[in-house]
Amino acid sequence: MKLTAASSSGLVSIDAQILFRVCLHRNYPQLSSYLLTATFMLPCMWDSSRAHPPTAQENTDEQGSNFKAAPTAACKGKGFTKPRYPYIKKASSFSSVPGEAYDYIIVGGGTAGCPLAATLSHKFKVLLLERGGSPYGNRNISRLQNFHISLADTSPSSPSQAFISTDGVINARARVLGGGTCINAGFYTRASPSYVNAASWDGQLVNESYPWVEKRIVYWPNVAPWQAALRDGLLEAGVSPFNGYTFDHIYGTKVGGTIFDRRGFRHTAADLLAAGNPNNLRVLLRASVQKIVFDTQGRRPKAVAVQFKDENGRQHQAVLEEGAGGGDVILSAGAIGSPQLLLLSGIGPKHDLEKLRIPVVLHNQHVGKGMSDNPMNSIFIPTKKPVRQSLIQTVGITKMGTFIEASSGFSQSSDSIQCHHGILSAEIGQLSAIPPAQRSLEAAQKYARNKQNLPREAFRGGFILEKIDGPLSTGELSLLNTDVDCSPAVTFNYFSHPYDLKRCVHGIRTIEKIVRTKHIAKLSGADEYPMEVLLNLSVKANLNLVPKHTNDTASIQQFCRDTVITIWHYHGGCHVGKVVDHDYRVMGVAGLRVIDGSTFVNSPGTNPQATVMMMGRYMGVKILRERLGRAAAV
Ligand code: FAD
Repeated sequence: MKLTAASSSGLVSIDAQILFRVCLHRNYPQLSSYLLTATFMLPCMWDSSRAHPPTAQENTDEQGSNFKAAPTAACKGKGFTKPRYPYIKKASSFSSVPGEAYDYIIVGGGTAGCPLAATLSHKFKVLLLERGGSPYGNRNISRLQNFHISLADTSPSSPSQAFISTDGVINARARVLGGGTCINAGFYTRASPSYVNAASWDGQLVNESYPWVEKRIVYWPNVAPWQAALRDGLLEAGVSPFNGYTFDHIYGTKVGGTIFDRRGFRHTAADLLAAGNPNNLRVLLRASVQKIVFDTQGRRPKAVAVQFKDENGRQHQAVLEEGAGGGDVILSAGAIGSPQLLLLSGIGPKHDLEKLRIPVVLHNQHVGKGMSDNPMNSIFIPTKKPVRQSLIQTVGITKMGTFIEASSGFSQSSDSIQCHHGILSAEIGQLSAIPPAQRSLEAAQKYARNKQNLPREAFRGGFILEKIDGPLSTGELSLLNTDVDCSPAVTFNYFSHPYDLKRCVHGIRTIEKIVRTKHIAKLSGADEYPMEVLLNLSVKANLNLVPKHTNDTASIQQFCRDTVITIWHYHGGCHVGKVVDHDYRVMGVAGLRVIDGSTFVNSPGTNPQATVMMMGRYMGVKILRERLGRAAAV
């Protein structure tokens, strides 16, 4: 394939090796305002029907009309908003009464942490500590149209904390009650039965736990035109059969669920807390856990408390109830947060801990190892007319282990047109408003000032993306310092294994076939755009800090390497069998578990959130049944 030379930008030449050492907000505030998202852009309200009939509340216009506030508020988002539930409080409200203790202390009110806390609270006293604020009242979280704004918000109170892996790929981790479910693209799809078997989970309990989540916060989408075109294009390109609307992971093409309802209103894992027992549940926001405290007097170190900092920087200690058959500290701080906290607490490779003068509680060389991220590459396809905004609704599951999904719509919402999305935002790439060689701080500022005046046509188009399942390329996480607010260094080594690259090429070739089908061509006039042109457009649309080559579209392999971005499905760092056992107990210590995406060797399903939430519920029920038998009554 002969292609024109791709461009390289001044910005992409910034040394990723230096950047990853950045604790963005504190050390490089000027840089942090330039970090941003990848390719899922700008959905709009679509009419979705629910997995169960909509409630009266959903049928009113109330929520929709509430969202029409001033655009500037949306750009900033909202900081600490009034929690919906009385048991959710600011961390500063914590005062340790002598003798007060908890059966379970859960660190991280995210995708796994919320269903876990709700479930355990049925029988036990639970303290849930979340470093972020409330999702309620923040329309950058609640409104599907504003998906990208949270990711663009790099302020210290943003629900999304940007980080850059040492590979040079811009990434994000959640920092809000509800975790990843508050900032993600909402697609909901289960893991395959073989995944469940490989995890040694109890199939029956798994089959009870998914519906527990689904009946509370999952909906069926009303398929948007771009998603319908992908569905039909996939089938015509041979990714068949069509499996209809299903949560199940089946080869072929399907429409999955979503946590956005028919008004484009996001439902999150935080909503699952409503299923808990309010008398037993205490949720603290802006409670940043610094470390786990161990009693090291006995045969094995035992977790007995955690230290956390409140929103005013004051330190507190929350303690576990003592006694036989007692509870645990449970880390559900996500694939970055959980290994980071183990390391900060003295569990990890001895040599690394000693370098940072962290007292060693337990040497375990596997903590932070085996980190993976499913690499994503996407093709940008301009369209004849603006296409309705959409996030993921359709997926093609190929036998090669490549998943094909799509997003569309770059016509800005009235909120988002006002916002500065940073020089690395996909829309700048799509627009090519700033020629790559001229991308600079000043150019980005000028762009941000003038953005509202740009013609809407410039935002027309959609992405078809592919991600590979279970990458064989793995990396690691290590601490840069002892500050828990500062993201650790993470390396994913994208495409270091040749089979991953082979699968990426297969994915891009499949997309090429889909682009040529009449279903996509109808919207795009794709005949006008040979694949070479689309690849070149896509080089600009997918911005990362990976060093560029002048021939990065000369081969699909080079395109895969140079345009790799993330679909945010990173996982690992606390693998089962290496850091935790099959009950998710940290090996070698007592009173400590890890229950979240950091325990996965592979990301479940095509997209993980369904299984992470299921896992929270599943483990909650399992623990209750183990401790109480029939009396658990769950
Ligand atoms: P999280 O949900 O991140 O929870 C960890 C929580 O712990 C966070 O709330 C964090 O603030 C808190 N925490 C961390 N450290 C501390 C500490 N020291 N003290 C106190 N609290 C702490 N998946 C899908 O299935 N479908 C999608 O469409 C999809 N799109 C995505 C788009 C984006 C932008 C992102 C970021 C992710 C997406 N994902 C999607 C992935 C999915 O959302 C995540 O895999 C999942 O949410 C991870 O869950 P978790 O429980 O492991 O971590």
